This record gives sequence, structure tokens and C-alpha cells, in this order.
Amino acid sequence: MYDSDEYDEDWIDDEPEDDQDDTMICPECGAEIFDDVDVCPVCLHAIIHNTSPWAGKSFAWIIFGLLGIIATIVALAILF
Ligand SMILES: [Zn+2]
Repeated sequence: MYDSDEYDEDWIDDEPEDDQDDTMICPECGAEIFDDVDVCPVCLHAIIHNTSPWAGKSFAWIIFGLLGIIATIVALAILF
């Protein structure tokens, strides 16, 4: 006789396991949403996609930071 249990096991093994890579958690409402959307479909919060910590920052801010450090060193050198 044919054993039908093998069919059931094969069907379970075919379940995809990598379908969670395209979702993210909305920072506003905490809902699980697709990471390629611009607006959360639950709370309509605009989603900002940051692939790099410096992606949304201008180099002007880095220069300002360096100028601030240099100004502090110069001020200390003059005072002491
Ligand atoms: Zn949301």
C-alpha cells in the first residue's frame, strides 16, 4: 500500500522562510509595515529610509563640528 504521510512532510518543507526581510517596524505606531513604503499605511507617518548614518547629513555639519573643536583648542591656547 502507498504511504501518504510522505506527501504531508514534503508539503511542509516547501514553506518559504525568508518572507520577513521586506518588513520593518513603524517608528511612530510600531506596526509591521513594508520597508519600501514612504508612508506608514496604519498611522500615515512618513517613513525615513536611512541606509547610512551620514546619508541625510550635509558635510557642512562635519565642518561645523571640526571648527567648533578647533575654536575650543585655540581658545584654550590663548587663555592658558
Ligand atoms: Zn505607523
